[in-house]
Amino acid sequence: MSYPQQLTVEELAAGIRAGERAILARAITLIESAHPAHQAKARGLLQTLLPESGTAYHLGITGVPGAGKSTMIDRLGISLIDKGHRVAVLAVDPTSQRSGGSILGDKTRMQRLATHRHGFVRPSPASGTLGGVARKTRETMALVAAAGYDVVIVETVGVGQSEVAVAGMVDFFLVLQLADGGDELQGIKKGIIELADMIAINKADSDNLTRAERAAADYRAALALLMPVSPSWQPPVITISARDNIGLDQLWDNIQAHHTCMRTSGEFSQRRANQNVRWMHDMLNEHIMACVYQNENLATKLSEAEAQVRAGNLAPSLAVDQIVNAIK
Ligand code: GDP
Repeated sequence: MSYPQQLTVEELAAGIRAGERAILARAITLIESAHPAHQAKARGLLQTLLPESGTAYHLGITGVPGAGKSTMIDRLGISLIDKGHRVAVLAVDPTSQRSGGSILGDKTRMQRLATHRHGFVRPSPASGTLGGVARKTRETMALVAAAGYDVVIVETVGVGQSEVAVAGMVDFFLVLQLADGGDELQGIKKGIIELADMIAINKADSDNLTRAERAAADYRAALALLMPVSPSWQPPVITISARDNIGLDQLWDNIQAHHTCMRTSGEFSQRRANQNVRWMHDMLNEHIMACVYQNENLATKLSEAEAQVRAGNLAPSLAVDQIVNAIK
């Protein structure tokens, strides 16, 4: 087979529409590439396929490493496939670069889903800033949707700012929590659960059942004090056991109820429209910065300004004025 750079945009688009996984995987590689020619081709491909990508449902899932995300997604994904869906899983893991190996990139995770012909699991892009990884994930979401995956799950680890990025690109944001050692409400301090459309306390099984129920009650009480994300949806708190397949039907029922509720109120399309505008702004920022770096004169000005700001000889606001004037 030809390499993606040898295939035209139309050939790539046709392969993706036909659900050819190898072509899809190669097209995603183009999106992840830093090479300007690959990026130009990826943009052309997106332009072609974006109109065909609007019908997939976007589900975001966060939770600390060990919370049970892969166990849960594997089970949920297979049960959705049994219901007739096609399920893709993408990961946003900006910590992978620092830790020297992607937490979410392990190929053995979600084994059944990854090997199912109606499943597609793509590990996190190996490098880049959170903004860059987020853009690549958004673009990959559009490609897998055009390839016919009608449920796209975006998974992220519960650290840093990646939850905010993922919550900003999905229709439903699920926070997976554990009832461990009295710090149940830690997530509230971190602001993660303010973004949640639902909280699921996992590992509600064996000896852990009572603690999980207690944690759920704590979260319910805490959520009642918070301003909900949507005026028409109070985020539920449920207990599940991904290992024993308990509560996953209820979990999906809640997601569907939310979807119906958002469609009825008009918030579904509003949320998508806002996300697209934010996507455009993020892309514009990235593009402008790329133009600055590619222009020798501007790149020199930028690094000189950086040095002066670092030395305390130039106020950051003045530095920005100087660079903007040079762009003009
Ligand atoms: P991830 O890092 O969030 O993807 O978590 P994993 O799905 O890899 O799960 C971490 C560990 O918790 C594994 O050893 C799982 O077998 C275990 N685990 C996952 N879900 C459950 C559950 O519902 N109950 C129990 N007891 N263990 C679970």
